[in-house]
Amino acid sequence: MDIELSNDDLSFEAEVREFLAGNAYKDGEDPNKWRMDWFEKAREKGGWDVPKWPAKFGGPGWTPNQHYIWQKETARSSTPWDMPFGLSMLGPVLMAHGSEEQQDRFLPDIRARKVNWCQGYSEPGAGSDLASLKTKAVLSEDGSHYVVNGTKIWTTMAHIADWIFCLTRTSDAGIKQEGITFLLFPMKQEGIEVKPIITLGGSHSVNTVFFTDIKVPVANRVGAEGKGWTYAKGLLEHERTGIAGISNSIVALEGLKDKASSVKRGNGSLMDVSSFKAKVAALEIDLMAVEYTELRSLATASAGTAPGPESSILKLKGTDIQQRIQKLTMEAGGQFSAAWGGTNAGPDFARAGMGGYMGSRVYTIYGGASEVQKDIVTKKVLGIKSSKK
Ligand SMILES: Cc1cc2nc3c(=O)[nH]c(=O)nc-3n(C[C@H](O)[C@H](O)[C@H](O)COP(=O)(O)OP(=O)(O)OC[C@H]3O[C@@H](n4cnc5c(N)ncnc54)[C@H](O)[C@@H]3O)c2cc1C
Repeated sequence: MDIELSNDDLSFEAEVREFLAGNAYKDGEDPNKWRMDWFEKAREKGGWDVPKWPAKFGGPGWTPNQHYIWQKETARSSTPWDMPFGLSMLGPVLMAHGSEEQQDRFLPDIRARKVNWCQGYSEPGAGSDLASLKTKAVLSEDGSHYVVNGTKIWTTMAHIADWIFCLTRTSDAGIKQEGITFLLFPMKQEGIEVKPIITLGGSHSVNTVFFTDIKVPVANRVGAEGKGWTYAKGLLEHERTGIAGISNSIVALEGLKDKASSVKRGNGSLMDVSSFKAKVAALEIDLMAVEYTELRSLATASAGTAPGPESSILKLKGTDIQQRIQKLTMEAGGQFSAAWGGTNAGPDFARAGMGGYMGSRVYTIYGGASEVQKDIVTKKVLGIKSSKK
């Protein structure tokens, strides 16, 4: 996709490229020091360490075009790893609904990448139907704190997290979306047990987390008691926009074309085979369409507003595209892709094929399954009401 870039945009693009090239990781550097220095230098550029935060909270206040340029350029460069939970998920919720005291207390450490957060939403029996969650928070008689008991599941990075933002039930009265309260508390305390879940790809990133009589001061409640569902939904919209990963898919698609071009077929390469080429072309067209959708959502994000239900379109299409890229990469590797890391035969890229393919299965589940995103798009974007009584 080529969007119209003004002269100002072009000089911004050059500045971004210069920054990224000048601060790329160099062999032999201490990766942690490089990471922290990188964020510090990005901060000195005027909020480049928190690109999506509004200017009021230290962000750069970029135009949608500038965001687009940043995403495109960072996807192609060596940038440090970052966790989304504090920066892109809790941060915006605190900015919109947290007290000034909470903003002053939590945002600086999130920005400095000093505190790792995890997301305590899903429970056994409350995934797609998240509002059925049962983790109880009971207010103490003197009204000073809540006592939390319950279980969360699929909690990514809970084993290394310092803090959790957690949806709890403070009331069973009314519809299930009412009575949900958004609490923040430290993970490293007695009464919290974290058990690893090893996933299909053989890795450990998700966990089951058990809470027994955890005391949470009322000062750690975000917004009003019983109104957590509203804040939780806003957070999910930010999460879904991030999961879509459009810029990374653009780079991955270029990689796919290179890989397929290296696979010989007759006198040419796999990229000359019309049936394969048609699949790549269809993918590229879908990617361009979703890129424009993302650009519209960047405009709302830079104004500090939650992206809205349109983020479900991004999540739905963005994750479908990521999976199709993995699938075509497997196809390009042919039979060699089936041997998961265990053979030296075939092209180098084929060895990672199966791992990447298996790993990509989760994209259409976490952050809300694709079927659920379709429901949201149908109801909230298209305005079509269910025919069910
Ligand atoms: C790798 C990974 C990381 C995750 N990280 C976190 C995290 O950090 N924090 C957190 O809180 N959660 C996390 N999750 C949980 C994730 O949000 C849930 O897995 C997801 O919402 C689906 O819920 P479920 O697994 O309970 O499946 P279910 O809700 O049981 O759904 C099972 C199947 O039924 C379908 N289905 C359900 N309801 C409907 C419907 N109304 N219409 C049509 N189909 C339907 C679903 O689409 C799905 O295919 C993670 C999940 C994964 C896989």
